[in-house]
Amino acid sequence: IEESEKFRIEYWALEEAKLRRMPEPKALATRVALVTGGGSGIGKAIAHRLVAEGACVVVADLDGGSAAAVAEELGGADRAVAVTVDVTDEAGITAAFERAALAFGGVDLVVNNAGISVSKPLLETTAKDWDLQHDIMARGSFLVSREAARVMIAQNLGGDLVYIASKNSVFAGPNNIAYSATKADQAHQVRLLAAELGGHGIRVNGVNPDGVVRGSGIFANGWGAQRAATYGIEESELGEFYARRTLLKREVLPEHVANAVLALTGGELSHTTGLHIPVDAGVAAAFLR
Ligand code: NAD
Repeated sequence: IEESEKFRIEYWALEEAKLRRMPEPKALATRVALVTGGGSGIGKAIAHRLVAEGACVVVADLDGGSAAAVAEELGGADRAVAVTVDVTDEAGITAAFERAALAFGGVDLVVNNAGISVSKPLLETTAKDWDLQHDIMARGSFLVSREAARVMIAQNLGGDLVYIASKNSVFAGPNNIAYSATKADQAHQVRLLAAELGGHGIRVNGVNPDGVVRGSGIFANGWGAQRAATYGIEESELGEFYARRTLLKREVLPEHVANAVLALTGGELSHTTGLHIPVDAGVAAAFLR
């Protein structure tokens, strides 16, 4: 038997042994989660749901005031702490994970949810818009995942990374090239990291929401007005409009996205990694823009 073949066999035997030692995902009641953008909308709903299932949560948001308010709603220091963090700032991200370690002893579930939407058609999108959008969503989620992986690998207890991507990561969202491109970047981060971190028992999955108007800062801060103008309706009618165009004729709420995060991380999908779950009441299935 050739030396290189012997090496190959030994290498895979070691890898397999390592995987067998990896724990199955733990029940949420024993877990510590860090949710970026947890101060508003979808992130806030995820933080609420994880705490309701017994997890401890670090609410990490650029808007420290809203993060603090959510942590307070969640029952304060025993169950949730707030951290002001900009996901574009490497040192700040490290500090957020250190805060989590101090408060709850570590982190084994991270939700990449923080985001903005530039929401402009191609000819109006400046290089600055493009950079800002990519800085926060593509580079920001990469930095958060890298720190999460460092922490989880050192803990050697496996873990979960969940990306709140978008229907627009796969399909062409109208008039938002910068936003949709970063969502496609995030979707590929899910696949790449699922491959790279699987051997450490770290599962990486995504959720693809669409049309979550109620509670969303992204919709309230410009996207809603732009979408309403495109469809020729009042901004206040947008939720109902989106509901009508879905296959299920239902409005998607932040809670529905939180349910998908729970499904992915609660233990039942222990053998699933690299998956994106649509939470769009059927819009992507029928390719409705
Ligand atoms: P939101 O504005 O209510 O929440 C986003 C949060 O991210 C805010 O609390 C904001 O302060 C925070 N944030 C922004 N920049 C940050 C930064 N640099 N560092 C840390 N935090 C930062 O919007 P939402 O609708 O709840 O969106 C949450 C996520 O869901 C986003 O990634 C968005 O792209 C995604 N998403 C939303 C929809 C939808 O229909 N609302 C659809 C698909 C995907």
